[in-house]
Amino acid sequence: MFFHEDIKGDRLPIGTVCLTYDDGPGPHTQVLGRFLREQGIRATFFVLGRHVEACRESVAALHACGHLVGNHTYSHPGLVALTESGGDVVGELVRTNVLVHQVTGASPRYFRAPYGNWRQVEEAGPGITRDRGESIVADRLNASGRLSAVVGPVNWDIVAEDWECWRLGVPPDEAAHRHADEAERVGRGLILMHDSSEDPDMRPRNQTYPMTRYLVPELKRRGFRFVGLDEVPQAFSAAGVRSMVYLAAEGEPSLTVGVEAGDAIIPGPADAAAARFGIVPLDGDDFALRAPNGLFLTVGDYNDLDLQSKVAADGTAAGPRQRLRLEFLGRGRHAIRTHGDRYLALVDTEAGRRLAATARRAGRSCFTLAPA
Ligand SMILES: [Zn+2]
Repeated sequence: MFFHEDIKGDRLPIGTVCLTYDDGPGPHTQVLGRFLREQGIRATFFVLGRHVEACRESVAALHACGHLVGNHTYSHPGLVALTESGGDVVGELVRTNVLVHQVTGASPRYFRAPYGNWRQVEEAGPGITRDRGESIVADRLNASGRLSAVVGPVNWDIVAEDWECWRLGVPPDEAAHRHADEAERVGRGLILMHDSSEDPDMRPRNQTYPMTRYLVPELKRRGFRFVGLDEVPQAFSAAGVRSMVYLAAEGEPSLTVGVEAGDAIIPGPADAAAARFGIVPLDGDDFALRAPNGLFLTVGDYNDLDLQSKVAADGTAAGPRQRLRLEFLGRGRHAIRTHGDRYLALVDTEAGRRLAATARRAGRSCFTLAPA
């Protein structure tokens, strides 16, 4: 499933990072992968199909070391322009998936767009452009039906421009400090680095392997811990999504996440993309809802005397408090039962109208789920 918004790591706990490397494999990828494994780190390598063809054994070695091999297209095009011009966007991804599968026996699960290029931009005033909430690339890839097991676009949170360091000839130890300082400034998330380059002139100047040998101990010294991409909440939740819906209480606009309101679920999205919820099937007829912020809709703690309990999009795993079940009410309407036999309902609070779980089916506990 391809989402309109970027998958980031900004909901990781402070002090937790995930290492990602793009544009490889390159000449030092194998030794880099081995070093990371010795350090107990599972990194993600977003490879280019073109480079996989030239360096198959490196990709096999990464997989054998337990690293995740992600898809970064075959030839590194800007995907928005390619889609607009009717180019073969689907082929760019399929080709790389097939190559990686041939080499490792496993298809890449995660995808990162070259340059992070995913949505069109529009004029928002003189000299000001704004990113549209919708992605024509996501629509094209989802419509193909050929990449339903791939999840993207995985973006990043921490970038210290390693490629710029190599262009300027910055020594690897200094580049490592730049990256560690930036990780400390941002606090947590996905670190963007490159184990090779799309640009043949830059490839021989790449120092990312020696930089990583300085960076890992430096981050450890500063108290950081490392997780794999599949442990990053927004990436983990995205991998479970099978379909997307707009969720609306009867007579209300679609619901969205009030990021300013502590991730409460509130009516009235700013734009359609911010109102898409992902359906994550669980066992039986149960499911969890992945909210537009990438986290699971979660029912807060309550005791039996509470008439209603808090609901927020702040769950990082799909456990009992994320478990939901539909009850059909007819005419396309549903009640949504939560754990403890409560029901989702839109209620008026001092802070405004928001989603809660109520002890019985109340006024606004009738929902529609329209395909998005
Ligand atoms: Zn790239």
